Amino acid sequence: MTAVAAYIGLGGNLDDPAARMARAFLAMDGLPGTQVVARSSLYRTAPVGFLDQPDFLNAVVRLDTTLSALDLLDALLALELDAGRQRSFRNAPRTLDLDVLLYGEQQISTDRLVVPHPRMGTRGFVLLPLQEIAPDLVIPGLGPLAPLAQACRGQGVDRLQDWPA
Ligand code: AMP
Repeated sequence: MTAVAAYIGLGGNLDDPAARMARAFLAMDGLPGTQVVARSSLYRTAPVGFLDQPDFLNAVVRLDTTLSALDLLDALLALELDAGRQRSFRNAPRTLDLDVLLYGEQQISTDRLVVPHPRMGTRGFVLLPLQEIAPDLVIPGLGPLAPLAQACRGQGVDRLQDWPA
């Protein structure tokens, strides 16, 4: 199977999320048939929904993978579990969240997986890091990334300088 370009959103706000995300980056690079070919800077974002929790850190990576979309989802869910994530309530604090944002140009809508990720079109913490690594991207069903990202500039998403060593 030829490799597909998949974009993954990473986020977390508990227990040293930057270090967890750096480990997730290495773990994704180690998945079968998968290479991380680009990663954004880290971004810091105020929480949405449930506000009484630490700021989130977010990033986006591009994988080239021969895994199917569902196998990729399962692999990411396993990495989330490894990171000790507990699913408590919607918008709750979390150690590591991994979302399949895009899987090639495919539009997927099944019980377990919806791609493009249904909420990505309005989220600055997704669109701004995505724009950093793929400025010319066109999102299936939504159109060019640039104007969508531009519309998110007031959301208080700050680009940080460095990934942890
Ligand atoms: P959440 O905890 O809010 O990230 O939701 C995780 C669940 O959403 C997973 O168990 C998936 O089955 C489902 N899901 C649907 N579409 C996606 C997607 N594009 N990326 C990640 N999870 C997804």
